[in-house]
Amino acid sequence: MSITASPQAVRSFCITRSAKMVSRPKVVMAVRSNTISAASILTKLQKDCATPLPVLRHMADAMAHDMRAGLATDGGSDLKMILSYVDALPTGNEKGLFYALDLGGTNFRVLRVQLGGKEEGVISTEFEQVSIPPELMFGTSEELFDFIASGLAKFAQKEGGKFHLQQGRTRETGFTFSFPVKQTSIDSGILIKWTKGFAVSGTAGKDVVACLNEAMKRQELDMRVSALVNDAVGTLAGARYWDDDVMVAVILGTGTNACYVERMDAIPKLQGPSSKSGSTIVNTEWGSFSNGLPLTEFDREMDAESINPHEQIFEKTISGMYLGEIVRRVLLRMAEGAELFGHFVPEKLLMPFALRTPDICAMQQDMSKDLEEVGSILYDVIGVNSSTNLRKVVIDVCNTIAKRGGRLAGAGIVGILQKMEHDSKGLIFGKRTVVAMDGGLYEHYPQYRRYLQEAVSELLGPEISRNIVIEHSKDGSGIGAALLAATNSKYGHDF
Ligand code: ADP
Ligand code: MG
Repeated sequence: MSITASPQAVRSFCITRSAKMVSRPKVVMAVRSNTISAASILTKLQKDCATPLPVLRHMADAMAHDMRAGLATDGGSDLKMILSYVDALPTGNEKGLFYALDLGGTNFRVLRVQLGGKEEGVISTEFEQVSIPPELMFGTSEELFDFIASGLAKFAQKEGGKFHLQQGRTRETGFTFSFPVKQTSIDSGILIKWTKGFAVSGTAGKDVVACLNEAMKRQELDMRVSALVNDAVGTLAGARYWDDDVMVAVILGTGTNACYVERMDAIPKLQGPSSKSGSTIVNTEWGSFSNGLPLTEFDREMDAESINPHEQIFEKTISGMYLGEIVRRVLLRMAEGAELFGHFVPEKLLMPFALRTPDICAMQQDMSKDLEEVGSILYDVIGVNSSTNLRKVVIDVCNTIAKRGGRLAGAGIVGILQKMEHDSKGLIFGKRTVVAMDGGLYEHYPQYRRYLQEAVSELLGPEISRNIVIEHSKDGSGIGAALLAATNSKYGHDF
């Protein structure tokens, strides 16, 4: 399918104003020259972002290869393949009151769950969500953890109703911390680096559980972290509570990550005794994968100007934090080089991250003939009036970036499944296998979801892909972390 706008359409953009949009767009600098057309920029973009089957196949194979290299030795691959220390997954027998704290990228969530064992299951849950003030993303470690601990303390104060702590016990929480951590036990781990735009000073190299414990002490909150997990591991644990066939979990939100159930004897770098189950969850940290990705000049420029250049390349290609920004960069090039918005470049378009992934998603949902919603988003976000033809080109750019992201995410999933199947024939492809998905990008972007599913089906073929169920496990990571807090409770299990 070709989605290229015709050159004539592109040249005839300049501006038709709707009645609503009569104000003069805010513009700065004049464009440099008009030697290229927006159509040619679009065509090149589509070519550079193309993900035909051989590219997907190569990527899936490279993912499987890098997973093995990361399992063989620490530092052996782009993929860190971090051991989660989660060797026992929830069984459904868990009982009692448990908390979870989830620090993702844009928000943190607090949650409590009352578990009633096999008979009663999840009796009740309650959660609250707080967005992280942007200045805390660039502040000190103490400031960030104090903010989190105080949110948790306020939430704990409101406990009541169906939630009750067994007498004499300290409250226990799971801590979902979705940044790369070198886990040292189920309840401790050293932050390797911040990602997703965070640049908090003083946390890298420290145990994040200790940071949280100190902050909880400062807030006089009597609570103990009994499990440190990332969102992918939490999602896998949460989804497994309901469905025994869950083997992989993938997060597609602000950032991205994946984890899966691995046999301990397939982890050469693992020293020490094997768990009772003989398997464990491995956190791939696949956001740092980079092998053979179809990248464009826009990706390279965004990476070079990012706060973590040369890192998290897969994340920068497929995750929610970046898709809108890549589109903005393409539109800026079209504005500067091809007079997309007339003789001037709109001021707002010059601002990094001005166009967000929810904006490009909302534009792609516009099915109207004149693309009015696209027009009003372009007006609100970039401050420009637009013709229908211009709007079509914008949609083509959005679609190109979303399509590449979704298809590459799908190929990554197939890479993991292939690796697992290769090591244990029939384990994955021979029966129903569930991939639990969570994250705002996957949840809210239907086109992205469809591209992801298509890539998985193309790669696996119709027969095998019938066995692979990709299931949205909404907020599974929160419940999952609380369930792992239960599984790892210091009070042991009386269940
Ligand atoms: P986090 O990753 O921060 O834990 P979420 O899983 O809720 O949080 O994902 C939030 C991210 O999802 C946002 O940063 C954004 O990139 C993406 N997102 C949110 N809403 C939409 C939407 N309507 N369309 C596309 N992407 C969205
Ligand atoms: Mg999250």
